[in-house]
Amino acid sequence: MERGSESDGHGGAQASPAEIEPSVRLNRVSKHFGDLIAVQDLDLDVGRGEFFTLLGPSGCGKTTTLRMVAGFEQPTAGRILIDGADVAGLPSYRRPTNTVFQSYALFPHLSVRENVAFGLRRKKVSKSEIAGRVESELERVGLAAEINRKPNQLSGGQQQRVALARALVNLPKVLLLDEPLGALDLKLRKGLQLELKRIQRDVGITFVYVTHDQEEALTMSDRIAVMSNGIVEQVDTPENVYERPGTTFVAGFIGVSNLMPGTIASASGDRGTIRLDSGPEVEAHVNGLANGERCHAVVRPEKLRIEHAGGSSGDGMPSVDGVVESSVYLGTSTQIVVRLPDDVTLTVLVPNASEAERARLPGGGAPVRLSWSPDHIHVVRESAAATIANTNGAPRQEELPQTATA
Ligand code: ATP
Repeated sequence: MERGSESDGHGGAQASPAEIEPSVRLNRVSKHFGDLIAVQDLDLDVGRGEFFTLLGPSGCGKTTTLRMVAGFEQPTAGRILIDGADVAGLPSYRRPTNTVFQSYALFPHLSVRENVAFGLRRKKVSKSEIAGRVESELERVGLAAEINRKPNQLSGGQQQRVALARALVNLPKVLLLDEPLGALDLKLRKGLQLELKRIQRDVGITFVYVTHDQEEALTMSDRIAVMSNGIVEQVDTPENVYERPGTTFVAGFIGVSNLMPGTIASASGDRGTIRLDSGPEVEAHVNGLANGERCHAVVRPEKLRIEHAGGSSGDGMPSVDGVVESSVYLGTSTQIVVRLPDDVTLTVLVPNASEAERARLPGGGAPVRLSWSPDHIHVVRESAAATIANTNGAPRQEELPQTATA
């Protein structure tokens, strides 16, 4: 189980979660629905002003976690603190949170102005203050000109901005966002991802964001909690979850995994060597594993260098031999899949910098050597989520598809 404070993050207002009180703290939180364990023993600290994302596949428990923070669900066990105060028993409308859902849930008969003003009216805020706050929030989300329109006169992206303004106008301490861009098309989603990040920096409040889209999480977050089967596998910066995945699940869920099975051959501190099942013994960060332990090593596709067998450009670097299984032109890069002697496949991405270089790349059936810098290989542990999967009757981790294949 990971605690958020293990990483320093790079969240805007956050110093170090250990030094200041976290904005949101989950302390050994579990949620059971009958026999089903939706969330198990979750420990998480979200820093003040941090853009924090819960990322994972469908059914991993991220929405349940968000709903417990919002007060729409009660934990079966554990404590949730917001700004240091235990929120147990507080209904959602008494919590210093607001939620933005995938469905915008706007009132169709009310104008944009009236939709955004709704919460403040219920709180009996004065008319002049409401007018000022509504206008400045609509300005912030770029909808000042649409203030008198009705929701059905707006695009999906504009409606979601109204929903965002309606939440922000209440000045929540924590904004909870449950797949808010999920209903939008890809181009609009990408534009709004950047805009959401800008708005979060501008308002400076804590965002807890739920998505199953790894690219979205990498683009927007200060830190990401990667979840699987009700547990957190890793809490880290986007760069670290991609470059230094902690478990086989994280390596497979974020990007192309390129997992090579092997055994730790020597370990001294963080460095050591791993005997790959495909033959060679190579240097690696051993991730706290000891001699003789089984593990997987990961090298990301863009970190692999490919050359014809017998070439010399990878001399002195760790390497494996294999045979090209396929080569596909992807526009900006060429994706080459190489089969190793132990039948594991690795994917290599080669940037298409020049036509001449691309013409020299090895094609199907060619014997090749793959090499990499020792800094770019990482040993990962088995995913801890298998235990919960077994309890819930889901496939065991070892029964899941081999993610080393692209
Ligand atoms: P998605 O991306 O599909 O929304 P998720 O990661 O947000 O998935 P949750 O919605 O948190 O997952 O669900 C976690 C597990 O709990 C799932 O197996 C789901 O079926 C189950 N679950 C969620 N809500 C309930 C409920 N009210 N009653 C019973 N089971 C539930």
